[in-house]
Amino acid sequence: MKTAIQNGKIIMNTDTISVLENHSIVIENDIILDILPNTEVLKLYPDSTIIDATNRAIFSGFANCHTHLSLTLARGIFENESYANTPPFPGPPRRSLPKISTEEQQIMVLLGAIEAIKSGTTVTMEVAQGIMNYANELQKTGLRLVLAEQMSDRVSGSIGEPGKFESDQQKLEDGIERIIDLYTKWNGYDQSRVTVALAAHAPDMNSPKSLQELRVLQEKLDIVSTIHLNQLWGEVQNIKDNFGTTPTEYLEQNNFLTSKLVAAHCRCMTKKEEQILGKFKSSVSFNSSIAARRGLSPNIKDLEEYGCSIAMGSDNMDENMIEVMRTGLFMERVRIMDGRNPNPNEVYKWATQNGYQSLGINDAGFIAKGNKADLIIVNTFKPHMTPQTDIVSNWVHMGQIQDVESVMVDGKWIMKNHKILNLDEEYIIKEANQIAKKAWNN
Ligand SMILES: [Zn+2]
Repeated sequence: MKTAIQNGKIIMNTDTISVLENHSIVIENDIILDILPNTEVLKLYPDSTIIDATNRAIFSGFANCHTHLSLTLARGIFENESYANTPPFPGPPRRSLPKISTEEQQIMVLLGAIEAIKSGTTVTMEVAQGIMNYANELQKTGLRLVLAEQMSDRVSGSIGEPGKFESDQQKLEDGIERIIDLYTKWNGYDQSRVTVALAAHAPDMNSPKSLQELRVLQEKLDIVSTIHLNQLWGEVQNIKDNFGTTPTEYLEQNNFLTSKLVAAHCRCMTKKEEQILGKFKSSVSFNSSIAARRGLSPNIKDLEEYGCSIAMGSDNMDENMIEVMRTGLFMERVRIMDGRNPNPNEVYKWATQNGYQSLGINDAGFIAKGNKADLIIVNTFKPHMTPQTDIVSNWVHMGQIQDVESVMVDGKWIMKNHKILNLDEEYIIKEANQIAKKAWNN
């Protein structure tokens, strides 16, 4: 069984980004079998099911390299309750996240997944503690998933909160066990549509011993690692007080930096730290929307120049990668006071190909023969997407969630003509609203 997507503009990304017209993408099983002129399709693949993509563009789906799907529960609240960026830390208190049941948590996760799919995401790295509670429900969405089980062994105090660091051996052992359990159950599931990664919470949440043990485990399992790094000024203060160094140097000292690390945020950083991270060729998840909401910005151009690969993530309360991509371009242009750089092609690559690579997936994230069929169809027959002088620029600067018409992962449609196929969207939205209402009122 083959599918041929015809008549759309195909966004190719080999050495440079280019647009291919009058061609078709032929998909067989989970793979892009061929990209060839429209006129050749029925000659070579007469049994293909034809999908007409006239007035449409076919882009790679987005890679969201850092999110916490169940934190949709905090939407409308945590966006506006940021920690302080100047002492005293952590600053004015924010409301604590209410406890909800496992079933309720599953609904909040699926709410985030629906938003992710509707905005054109095809792979997401979910970072959380206790992913086992909802991994099965989440994988049913059809999304490609990297499940990063997170652990911390700090006895008390939260991220960004100064205070004496004490390690809890039991928390350490439990965390390692959770990662191994998740890996055993889910890594490689469904032709590796689901893989497992490990997450240290943050430098100020993880002891030297926990970082070292996680690195040994990473090496043994051969998986991607991640951490919230240089996220908050309170974290920087904590590491200075407890270990007399900076967060990135603390990770270097404890062997946690590698080219298979996705460092999320990287906002509160010295030049020296940026250079260290670059030296290890770690990936940076540029979580632009949350960064803007927090009033902080990473030095993306510098990190990239020092050797980091730039990927993108949404982080809390938000799964819209179109907005993440656009906000990233805007923020970086404002920060470096350059109205031309980064250009849309670079930012598109951050949000797609670089993201996939950072998650250990090298055969997806760009449309090419032989790659995994993870792609999206975008309706460009819209006033804000016209004229199509530069379709990638339009997508980055003007794209809207409603433009995403269909989403394919591993050769299977998970959204077709705006309909989410594996979930009851209306039910989940109604339920999620009730759950949040009840939880925050308590
Ligand atoms: Zn996060």
